Amino acid sequence: MVRKKMMAANWKMYKNVAETREFFREFLPLVAGHERDEIVVCPPYVDVPAAVESVKASQVAIGAQDVHWKDEGAFTGEISPRMLADVGCTHVIVGHSERRQYFGETDDSVNLKLKAALGHGLTPIVCVGEVLEEREAGLTEDVLRRQCARAFHAISAKKAAKLVIAYEPVWAIGTGKTATPEMASEAHVLIRGEAAKVFGEDFAQQLRILYGGSVKPENAKALMAEPEIDGALVGGASLAVKSFVAIVKY
Ligand code: PEP
Repeated sequence: MVRKKMMAANWKMYKNVAETREFFREFLPLVAGHERDEIVVCPPYVDVPAAVESVKASQVAIGAQDVHWKDEGAFTGEISPRMLADVGCTHVIVGHSERRQYFGETDDSVNLKLKAALGHGLTPIVCVGEVLEEREAGLTEDVLRRQCARAFHAISAKKAAKLVIAYEPVWAIGTGKTATPEMASEAHVLIRGEAAKVFGEDFAQQLRILYGGSVKPENAKALMAEPEIDGALVGGASLAVKSFVAIVKY
């Protein structure tokens, strides 16, 4: 089964509108005609319209970094999936570890957000991954199993068709520590197995599982060479055109 890899940028809380436009002005000519991998950039909400406008004539897709699960309502500060689709977002990150760590994201809210994103035709990139203490205590498998089972709860394979997972060991995010390709691969096999339990074997074979955690131009090639790794979710190294291009072209 050949799965087209997805190279996704998570800009976190970096770049304003002018910096967003400048990024794409430099970036797009360098990836023109690059069809081997799907390219997705997830800027902060306020930069999304400028990003969507910038990539209009290209193959690059724009995603958001989070989403609420309701279409509208009295939820101050939140953005709905309907609003994201309306401004031209096609992708959305759900359950990033920084949301889980700092903003009270739970396995249950991840499930609600995932359902809402799928319901609006968005491609969700659901993040799972263990923290350092969990890895050291030998709990990685339990944590991944729990996060997957709770995220996938009460979703049909048909509805989940667009699902993408990102395995992001939390100890590797922004730390310069990367999981070895073998470690990542092992986790991906486990996640694919969890998806097979819920959605079936065929679905699991088509499911893309990205790796995230200090992906850099220097380690992208070795990671992407693993058949189990179907792309990358890139934080820090996606902010500079040169390094993100190098990663995309691994
Ligand atoms: C991320 O934020 O999803 C991430 C993987 O960050 P970094 O590449 O900076 O480790």
